[in-house]
Amino acid sequence: MSAPGNISLRVGAVMVSTNVNGPGRRLVIWLQGCEFHCKGCFNPEFHDRNMGLPMSGHDILAMARMDGGIEGLTFSGGEPFLQAEPLGQFAMAAQEEEGFGIVCYTGYTLEEILSGKPDGGMGLLKQVDMLIDGLYRENEQAPLIWRGSRNQRVHFLTPRYRHLEPMVEKENRRHVEVIAGKDSVAVTGIFPLEFWNRLRQKLENRKAGQDIKSTQSGSI
Ligand code: SF4
Repeated sequence: MSAPGNISLRVGAVMVSTNVNGPGRRLVIWLQGCEFHCKGCFNPEFHDRNMGLPMSGHDILAMARMDGGIEGLTFSGGEPFLQAEPLGQFAMAAQEEEGFGIVCYTGYTLEEILSGKPDGGMGLLKQVDMLIDGLYRENEQAPLIWRGSRNQRVHFLTPRYRHLEPMVEKENRRHVEVIAGKDSVAVTGIFPLEFWNRLRQKLENRKAGQDIKSTQSGSI
């Protein structure tokens, strides 16, 4: 296992404490880089592999530790499996050092990863407790927890979150988190693009010039 300080990830964004990007309170990493270009993708700023910033595994774990109440990590993007090798090493360190559960979004299907696509994918898959797979399909939008479209599936790969299996097929279980700071507002979760556009318009009307960011979890 690599020491977290020796693991470098290309990261688009990190949110230290959210309750809507997987089970319990989680630190979410939006990995930089995606080649799928799904129509209606909510996070196009995470597509370019050359953007974002390098971050060490050590620094990310330190952020999670400081919070004190984090249940686990969620890998979103972007496409986490484009950085499968270092991300698998990082997930292993996070589990062994902190006992964190791992949730990972991917545009690949579980079957594609099991058949060796992309390179190194199996190493990351072995560390994942809950995988949410499949490309976002704009014409199959659905109000399902943790997913943007109906084709996407939740796979419980270890017992850690399996008790949640009965809730994943129930409709209208989506949650959105709005975090208001002094000079900014961040919105996270899975929600329709129209909701975000309406919310942004309302906020902009209230306070011109306020910095408003959104990071939508997973493949939407
Ligand atoms: S929805 Fe996900 S997989 Fe599709 S382009 Fe956007 S980041 Fe990539």
